[in-house]
Amino acid sequence: MPKKKEIRLRGYPICPGIAIGRPVYFEIAEENIPEFSVPDDKIDHEVSRYYSALKNSRKDLLSLQQLMEKEGGNEAAAILGAHLEIMRDPLMTVEMEEAIREKGKNTEYVFSTVIGEYALKFQKITDVFFRERLSDVQDISRRIIGHLRQHDRRPLSQLEYKSVIFAHELSPSDTADANTDVIEAFVTRTGAETSHVAIMARAKGIPFVSNVDFPDFSISAPPYVIVDGRSGEVIINPTKETFDLYQEEGKKLKIHVKGLQKSGSLAAETLDGCKIRLSANIEMFNELDALHQYGGEGVGLFRSEYLFLARDAFPSEEEQFLVYRMLVEKVGGHPAVIRTFDIGGDKLGNVHMNRSEKNPYLGCRAIRLMLKERALFKTQIRAILRASAFGEACILFPMISGVLELREAKKIVEEAKLELLEKGVPFARNLPIGCMIEVPSAAITCDLIAKECDFLSIGTNDLVQYSLAVDRGNPTMSYLYTAAHPSILRLIKMVVDAGRRAEKAVSICGEIAGNPLYTQLLLGLGVHDFSVATLSLPVIKNVIRSLSIKDACKLAKSALSLSTVDEVEELLQKSYSKLQLDA
Ligand code: PEP
Ligand code: MG
Repeated sequence: MPKKKEIRLRGYPICPGIAIGRPVYFEIAEENIPEFSVPDDKIDHEVSRYYSALKNSRKDLLSLQQLMEKEGGNEAAAILGAHLEIMRDPLMTVEMEEAIREKGKNTEYVFSTVIGEYALKFQKITDVFFRERLSDVQDISRRIIGHLRQHDRRPLSQLEYKSVIFAHELSPSDTADANTDVIEAFVTRTGAETSHVAIMARAKGIPFVSNVDFPDFSISAPPYVIVDGRSGEVIINPTKETFDLYQEEGKKLKIHVKGLQKSGSLAAETLDGCKIRLSANIEMFNELDALHQYGGEGVGLFRSEYLFLARDAFPSEEEQFLVYRMLVEKVGGHPAVIRTFDIGGDKLGNVHMNRSEKNPYLGCRAIRLMLKERALFKTQIRAILRASAFGEACILFPMISGVLELREAKKIVEEAKLELLEKGVPFARNLPIGCMIEVPSAAITCDLIAKECDFLSIGTNDLVQYSLAVDRGNPTMSYLYTAAHPSILRLIKMVVDAGRRAEKAVSICGEIAGNPLYTQLLLGLGVHDFSVATLSLPVIKNVIRSLSIKDACKLAKSALSLSTVDEVEELLQKSYSKLQLDA
């Protein structure tokens, strides 16, 4: 076992799971590119080298696209489709050939210089659309350079042993390339939970921690690292005790998850007979299989913005209708809560309306953006309404900060309904309308909001960010970002009580809903409706089945009397460890 000091680093948990493996630093293909002159009679050879790299990159993307489609990763396949389009651009074909002939230098050097100049030009443009396109071009160029430099760099599909990939940043195609038989986990310095890379990693079920400030492994790498994708912890040079502990925990987790996965047919019911609704947060269609396998009762949050994060334009009404219709039909027999586009903040998407803001989280995000872009908003509402004729659809508005926004949004729903009525298009007349409670002003006035909508859904990811004034994506502030703050407990209680008084359903869909440490507390605070990531369904069901509402209420009462985060966390840990969970 290594004698070096154990180092524990913290990052942002993107995809859960425990991994132990050898660290592999994944160098970006554009690093350290050689430059040399090419004699005239060898230029044709350089040009043909370029075209064959282009052809091979295209082949890679096509086969990846097919694979993703087969695995149900339609969003991922769409990203790759957009990349294939860019490869046909003159920049990538005739213009590149001209540059190779003109400069008389080796292809990889010319290629990276041209792309570098292109990047400089585009970086100066504040328009988010162009910056997003730039990141796509950079991703493709990394792949092309990877082919040009195939002798000194191994792609992620060709690693031989169980590896934990450390990279400054990963591209969507790197992640799509990842061979899950050999890659145990990803650790990156940058990357948000909602990035394309995160979408791909989740689709493949690879544990992933981002925003980790890890040391340079290119010279000397430790023999093992441990990645805990649940907590966001990355342990370098683990001591024997830590290594054994995590190995055991990893094994247990696998057995546990396998065992729990069989719980699909069991009810999410507490020991004292209280039935809890357990539904899923869905970003991609392939997650619906797991939803059924684990017995989830519908979709509590469909993050519709994932439909176009990979695209250059908003999907049309027809495209959206087909997606929402498929969703409600596949969910069948249970409601599917479709959240209207939540773009902005860290979820820019390629079509984020030409905006660049100093404080995007506090800017034109979610419902604010949609109320400015009414035509697009109405298109989405119409598509959801039309889908409601084929299954139980509900509309959920994100980032509502007060009653006025809700009223404005409802007006658009009414307009869309009238338009459909006039055309004789069927839809569910009483389609439920809900509000995300994720802004403190909404939590504080939720009694007023509850009066004017059908249900509330507590989004603790943002509620924590906005209540504690801590950027949820800033790793240096993550020590302050926690739902165990007494203010969050009080806000949740306030929303649940207001919902009960108004006789409106209240669910919780932030990440803590899928964190077993919080289950007992949430139940005790009165939350009886959880929407969690599909992979967390069996875990949370197991916790629900092992406790009583009576004990949960006692725990919540004690938690509410505490003054600090530390005290709350300690209480949660203690009560969780006392539960008799199914092994
Ligand atoms: C939340 O904020 O808790 C939530 C569920 O929404 P998102 O994570 O998509 O912002
Ligand atoms: Mg949110």
